[in-house]
Amino acid sequence: MTARTTRVVRLVRRPAGEPVPGDFALAEHPLPPLGEGQLLVRNLYMSVDPSMRGRLESTEKHYTHNFTPGSPLDGRALGIVEESRCASVPPGRYVRHQLGWREHAVLDAAATDGAGRIDPELAPLPTWLGLLGQTGFTAYVGLTRIAEARPGDTVLVSAAAGAVGSAAGQFARLLGAERVVGTAGGPDKCAALVEEFGYDAAADYRAEPVREALARLAPDGIDVYFDNVGGAQLAAALHALRPGGRVALCGMMSQFGGERPSADLNQLIQAVLKRLTLRGFIVRDHEDLRPEFEHRVAGWLRSGEVLARETVVDGLENAAGALLSLLGGGNVGKMLVRLAP
Ligand code: NDP
Repeated sequence: MTARTTRVVRLVRRPAGEPVPGDFALAEHPLPPLGEGQLLVRNLYMSVDPSMRGRLESTEKHYTHNFTPGSPLDGRALGIVEESRCASVPPGRYVRHQLGWREHAVLDAAATDGAGRIDPELAPLPTWLGLLGQTGFTAYVGLTRIAEARPGDTVLVSAAAGAVGSAAGQFARLLGAERVVGTAGGPDKCAALVEEFGYDAAADYRAEPVREALARLAPDGIDVYFDNVGGAQLAAALHALRPGGRVALCGMMSQFGGERPSADLNQLIQAVLKRLTLRGFIVRDHEDLRPEFEHRVAGWLRSGEVLARETVVDGLENAAGALLSLLGGGNVGKMLVRLAP
């Protein structure tokens, strides 16, 4: 099938404060003819990511381009090749790429990954965007290379019921952590942390200051903090870290597009006093680890030692709502939109 146009989600205007549904609209968008080396891909699932929030703004600096009002959004997606002008990626192959937020995409085969590796027999397609995709990879890189998690560590993970967090907590345990503590918003998520994702303890940051919760749940301190939220939780973790502790700075959910709680930065003196290592990272700088990651996590999936959980919303028309829901904490595990049956 050669679709001449495809449905996309476009940005209508930059949000004035928190984003609202009216900032986004569905539109028909032309599809270019296939050039040499290109593919027509029907998107099956698309990833909904916190980084979208900063990309809606004009001033936030991010690791990829910001969106322009009137233009389609983009982001990670998984689809099936319907037409191909690249001999090594024939029709029927599953590929991942960056042209989500639309039903069909025309793109260079060289700009896709996973062709020939995405195996629905090994794991369902959504898992290839979640635990076996960029979010699981982010957790793996952050723990193994950035925080250098070691057997016997006590590990703290924030946004622990989300996509990266639920992977990080499970991987920490499998890498030999002695105790894994997670923070999340609300009692249901905290229950899921312990009952589904195997955390030893969970703290509801909305119900209790994290610093107080950590005094109870990790009284001897923590060795590693996998930080997804920044702000007050980072400050609490700085207090709980043992001398020589390591922090993987993965993301700053508490600060996307919002206020910068500068008072929390006063706690940075803890990093000096305790000789802490705080290291930020961008996952795409660590592609050399991907084969090791896929091999190990595929093994853990096969043996049933890890749980892949997704929150799946149906239809492109509900994609903007899925983003707003994610920003408000409406997901457990990876937030995805299913674009085709
Ligand atoms: P999640 O699935 O974790 O979804 C985001 C979660 O953040 C929400 O479910 C919500 O959970 C929590 N949250 C929202 N607002 C706040 C707040 N004010 N304070 C504390 N928690 C909040 O998203 P991802 O797993 O996709 O991403 C997690 C983090 O990893 C993000 O910071 C993201 O930017 C980062 N990231 C970094 C990458 C890198 O290369 N460095 C790559 C990919 C992701 P709750 O209900 O518990 O509040």
